[in-house]
Amino acid sequence: MDADITIIGAGVIGLAIAAELADSRNNIYIIEKDVSHGRGISSRNSEVVHAGIYYPPGSLKAKFCVEGRELLYETCIKYHIPHKKTGKLIIAATKNETGKIEQLLQTARQNGVSSVSLIDQCRISEMEPNIRATAALYSPDTGIVSVHSLMDYYLQSAKSRGAEIVYGTEVVGIEQVPQGYKMSTVNQEGESFTFTTEKIINAAGLHSDMIARMVGKEYLLHYCKGEYFSIDNVKSGMVTRLVYPVPEENHVGLGVHLTLDLTGRMKLGPDTTYIQRVEDYRVDASKRDQFYEGAVKFLPFIHKEDIIPDMSGIRPKLQGPGEGFRDFVIREDLPGFFNLVGIESPGLTAAPAIAKYVKKMLKNLGEN
Ligand SMILES: Cc1cc2nc3c(=O)[nH]c(=O)nc-3n(C[C@H](O)[C@H](O)[C@H](O)COP(=O)(O)OP(=O)(O)OC[C@H]3O[C@@H](n4cnc5c(N)ncnc54)[C@H](O)[C@@H]3O)c2cc1C
Repeated sequence: MDADITIIGAGVIGLAIAAELADSRNNIYIIEKDVSHGRGISSRNSEVVHAGIYYPPGSLKAKFCVEGRELLYETCIKYHIPHKKTGKLIIAATKNETGKIEQLLQTARQNGVSSVSLIDQCRISEMEPNIRATAALYSPDTGIVSVHSLMDYYLQSAKSRGAEIVYGTEVVGIEQVPQGYKMSTVNQEGESFTFTTEKIINAAGLHSDMIARMVGKEYLLHYCKGEYFSIDNVKSGMVTRLVYPVPEENHVGLGVHLTLDLTGRMKLGPDTTYIQRVEDYRVDASKRDQFYEGAVKFLPFIHKEDIIPDMSGIRPKLQGPGEGFRDFVIREDLPGFFNLVGIESPGLTAAPAIAKYVKKMLKNLGEN
């Protein structure tokens, strides 16, 4: 075999796995269709290190979010990756919503997130005098991270222990052969190349269902776009924590919320819109009223003119429109063939825990 392990996709998931698996006894390749790493979903998200509050207890999303958060902060501190534990408030504006945040507190506790607490209006005004809310769930362990610095770290860490990355090369076919797989690729000049690998880890994000289909495994991803509007920098500093309303039903999205980047710039979003399978990242400026109305309820200091169309990302959802919660799929579907499908939020937070889980699955196969 030309390779021991081939990882398809150099997003935060593929790179975290490469960093976890790389060692001198393994011959690992990362194949990326783009010209550089981290230009897919991983470059278009909120960069939030989630605490693990929302996800159904017992789900992989809950488990890996909680484990991943701890591992992520440890890595950030150890390797000087820019991050900040900002804390987060999930706010209630009505009595009905207060009931919902109480339920969230229960879910958080069941998920092992012990640091969250309910706070009243008086405490909210001390912490964030510029927001409007009657009660809130306070999560001190939520934060933000520079996802590009994190991915750079994972890649360097993998390369320093022998992993190799091949850019501008798309996987277009996979065939099972004795002892492994034959992979067909095409580079950006249109040249074809095939090689053999003992194991495959499919971390192809928005295309992970297509990769799975190459070996006859059926998954259907729905593309769900999330658009962001930024708030004019003159308002920077008026809020210092992330602020979320109570989440949407069925875990589709988290509602129009306020996130911060590491410079303190405020952003609203992402919203949730199911789209056709096209990677269209345009932001619909006509959504400004909708974002304004969603945000002004808890950010009374903003004006419509403060809100500017910003960026968007696309979630790879197994959950179709109107359907219920779907968990991450991380599964060995064929011998030595691991599919990671539906790795939407909290995929960034969960990445280091997912990487450890994949390593464990490989160990069970007899890999060192
Ligand atoms: C709007 C939005 C906001 C989010 N916010 C957060 C957040 O705040 N916190 C959080 O924890 N998570 C968040 N997430 C989720 C998180 O961003 C993702 O779970 C994570 O980035 C997924 O990484 P990935 O490596 O699976 O995918 P990607 O980063 O897309 O990487 C997959 C790679 O595979 C490559 N590829 C695809 N097909 C092929 C092929 N045939 N051959 C070779 N290469 C291929 C692609 O080019 C790509 O580089 C958010 C997601 C979205 C969309």
